[in-house]
Amino acid sequence: MKILLVEDNPLNQKIVSFYLRKEHHEVTIASSGEEAVKLFVSGEYKIILMDLMLPGMNGIETTRKIRKIEAEFPGTERSFIIALTANTLDNDREQCMQSGMDEYMAKPFEMYKLKHIIENYSF
Ligand SMILES: [Mg+2]
Repeated sequence: MKILLVEDNPLNQKIVSFYLRKEHHEVTIASSGEEAVKLFVSGEYKIILMDLMLPGMNGIETTRKIRKIEAEFPGTERSFIIALTANTLDNDREQCMQSGMDEYMAKPFEMYKLKHIIENYSF
């Protein structure tokens, strides 16, 4: 599956992409929201893993932008966006869902949980 990992922390980039590639997913890494939007436009990503704290545009703003682009092109298949965040406050989750995210995972998370979410997302 084509997965876009939006994460600015190099260690998290390595850990998450290593794990996902081991599960035979095709992973592309974006280090900022701006980069994520560019990659999103040129690629067909089924799943987007979205860190919330990013330099420049944050994860919420980036998600809104992606949903806006999807809405402008009705033929586009809606991507499944999973928030990856260090913040576990409830209003954070609320904000994520309101911005158009589909799932929410607090870091550090167990990889099997991520695997479970991906496997249960049917296309
Ligand atoms: Mg970050």
